[in-house]
Amino acid sequence: MDGRLLSLIIPVYYEEEVLEASFLRMDAAMRATGHPYEIIYVNDGSRDGTMKILRRLAKENKQVKVRSFSRNFGHQLAVTCGMDAAKGEALIIIDVDLQDPPELIPQMVERWKNGADIVYGKRVKREGESIFKKVTAACYYRLLSWMSAYPIPLDTGDFRLIDRKVADCFLKMREHSRFLRGMSAWMGFEQEAIEYVRQERAAGKTKYTLKKMLKLAMDGITGFSAKPLTLAGKLGIGLCALSGLGLVALIVLACTCGVAPWLWAVDGLALLQGLTLCFMGIQGMYLGRIYDEVKGRPLYIVAEELNLE
Ligand code: UDP
Ligand code: MG
Repeated sequence: MDGRLLSLIIPVYYEEEVLEASFLRMDAAMRATGHPYEIIYVNDGSRDGTMKILRRLAKENKQVKVRSFSRNFGHQLAVTCGMDAAKGEALIIIDVDLQDPPELIPQMVERWKNGADIVYGKRVKREGESIFKKVTAACYYRLLSWMSAYPIPLDTGDFRLIDRKVADCFLKMREHSRFLRGMSAWMGFEQEAIEYVRQERAAGKTKYTLKKMLKLAMDGITGFSAKPLTLAGKLGIGLCALSGLGLVALIVLACTCGVAPWLWAVDGLALLQGLTLCFMGIQGMYLGRIYDEVKGRPLYIVAEELNLE
């Protein structure tokens, strides 16, 4: 029998309506893996009955552990806090609202035992979400994957299993603006997908307001792509090239049939603007390098070593 401990990490924010039903399904799914397990709830500053229910669950079930924030720090930090507390050999991250079916956990654990370091859930369909959410999510994931310097799998959320060695690398990254699925992609390792249909929320409303969603979307792009910083430079080069060609054309015209004086002014202005954008692009390159240093990510990640102990 495989006695390795599993840790299930669940962030909760104003979830009194769904918490108890959710616990029953999560607990049953973890039991079905046949492994010893702990369930770590992180209360992200809820002020409703969430903590009361969590206190009771922790009292009645030894495997339930709880950390409670002093205020709302956000989903990504709540997950990180749960990962900091986890003692398992594999960590599983899941939302409390049962949109990601906990019944997939035993399959994820099987894949892990067969050698996968990260097993992530890939949504093939979303049930019960607004057209707005479906369309914006689909567009965003595609934009992100085009912008990102690292391949971030399409249509994946934070529902995933990660091996202890991956979690240890992950927890060394202490950047404040966190985008877990991007960080997970950045690390590499053996990653496998499990496809599933994302369900409707079991109860309650989404806690991801438009503002929170936009922040997460921006964290994803700014944390994993330098493209926005290089945009000014590219535009500048284009503008300089165009106005340079324009200048040649103006000189030729001036020598033959003459040109209106305002055309010189327009071309001169475009050239100057192009130069300004080029210098902004150069500043962007330095800024990008400073940002990389400040993030303080590991220089490299070793997945395996032979004869080096
Ligand atoms: N959540 C959190 N802090 C927040 C917002 C959400 O811990 O500030 C939790 C929430 O309780 C849930 C998970 O993060 O377990 C995902 O949130 P939600 O289901 O509302 O997002 P959606 O699935 O609608 O994107
Ligand atoms: Mg949800």
